[in-house]
Amino acid sequence: MITTAGAVSLGTSIKALSENLTEQDEKMPVLFIGHGSPMNAIENNEFSRTWSALAQDMPRPKAILCVSAHWLTRGTHVTAMEKPKTIHDFGGFPKALFDVEYPAVGNPELAKEVAANIKSTTVGLDTQEWGFDHGSWSVVRPMYPNADIPLLQMSIDYYKAPQYHYDLAKELAFLRKKGVLIIGSGNMVHNLGMATFGNLNGPGYDWAIELNETFKKKITDGDHKPLIDYRSLGKAAELAIPTPDHYYPLLYSLGLQEKDEKVNIFNDKAVAGSLTMTSVRIG
Ligand code: ZN
Repeated sequence: MITTAGAVSLGTSIKALSENLTEQDEKMPVLFIGHGSPMNAIENNEFSRTWSALAQDMPRPKAILCVSAHWLTRGTHVTAMEKPKTIHDFGGFPKALFDVEYPAVGNPELAKEVAANIKSTTVGLDTQEWGFDHGSWSVVRPMYPNADIPLLQMSIDYYKAPQYHYDLAKELAFLRKKGVLIIGSGNMVHNLGMATFGNLNGPGYDWAIELNETFKKKITDGDHKPLIDYRSLGKAAELAIPTPDHYYPLLYSLGLQEKDEKVNIFNDKAVAGSLTMTSVRIG
């Protein structure tokens, strides 16, 4: 009886919510978040506290769409299930982290709308395979611990060039006016092979700091071309971005920046020598 009532009420709220996603005056900000260690999901630390404060400082989203570094596919896909599962896509962490469930609902109607609005490629609706990987829930959980905002993920077509991701992002712009918070979740500087996990708070490698400064300058100046052509940024970029999985989410966030929109940099810090947590708020 209780279960049935709960299910009806949940179904109703999802329906009401998707109907509520109409255009509004205020555009939602866009975020790029350096997610770092999955432990940030459950630790009260400088990064998770900043995420939490950030959520308080923004309008409450009607839904969240996260482009996570941890969902790499052929073709672009969006999660379209009513109740996405929490995926524990890591190893070697404490049981407490594997016990985390992030029970936010999905929003299949919104997923369909995303797919319908993207014209440059055919977006697949994923009803089976994915859910929430730690690129999304490790960040969204500290922001919205009650898991009461529908969450969707969009995958990264790993067979496409950087420009594709930057351009595709622009086709998501309509979501901002519907109260959807778009988050790119990765790390601008991300070389796990050179990471010194025994010394998390040690100084960043010279090349990591150098590139972090370059990134901040170009992001602040709105100079996106060299960020799209990141391979032109020399040796530091070769070391910082040995594979682009954690970098591409930044291109989604930057692609959504509109003319004269202000940017704020936060969590500007290197960890484990070869990662940066540096994050961006647009708008
Ligand atoms: Zn990651």
